[in-house]
Amino acid sequence: MSPVGGVGINYAIQDAVAAANILSGPLRESQDRLVDLDTGYLRAVQLRRELPTRTIQAAQSLMQRRVLAVALGSDEPFEPPLAMRLFLRVPVLRDIPARMVAYGLWPSRVKEGAYPAAAPGEAA
Ligand SMILES: Cc1cc2nc3c(=O)[nH]c(=O)nc-3n(C[C@H](O)[C@H](O)[C@H](O)COP(=O)(O)OP(=O)(O)OC[C@H]3O[C@@H](n4cnc5c(N)ncnc54)[C@H](O)[C@@H]3O)c2cc1C
Repeated sequence: MSPVGGVGINYAIQDAVAAANILSGPLRESQDRLVDLDTGYLRAVQLRRELPTRTIQAAQSLMQRRVLAVALGSDEPFEPPLAMRLFLRVPVLRDIPARMVAYGLWPSRVKEGAYPAAAPGEAA
């Protein structure tokens, strides 16, 4: 995968937030009952994160092919494609790449109560 945009850590944190929100309750419950975690919860994490990940990867791949490879592969002065010039100049468009890099398609927030406090007498 292309490293364009340096999004890896942002997306890793969003993955972790989604995993924590979806898995923390069921993991605690399965440990309490000494049973395996239902793999449906893992599929739910995949479902939540696959589209944002595939979308940013497609955008990175496009930037790699249409901008970086062209700029690095030529000795001529580089003229960015029209779409990129618009994204750099039009204020309403300018925010979109920054938002995609920072938050992805939708923001990931830790759900309140995703980490239940330790029960009385239980180590935190
Ligand atoms: C050279 C380089 C430069 C980068 N620069 C940037 C940058 O500037 N900005 C940016 O945002 N991103 C950057 N990235 C990308 C970023 O580091 C990754 O996208 C991010 O670390 C992914 O986090 P992760 O938690 O998903 O996976 P990882 O950070 O890979 O963590 C996975 C962990 O799981 C462990 N593990 C694997 N298998 C098992 C197992 N079976 N049992 C137990 N543990 C296991 C591994 O040892 C590892 O500690 C860079 C990556 C590289 C390689």
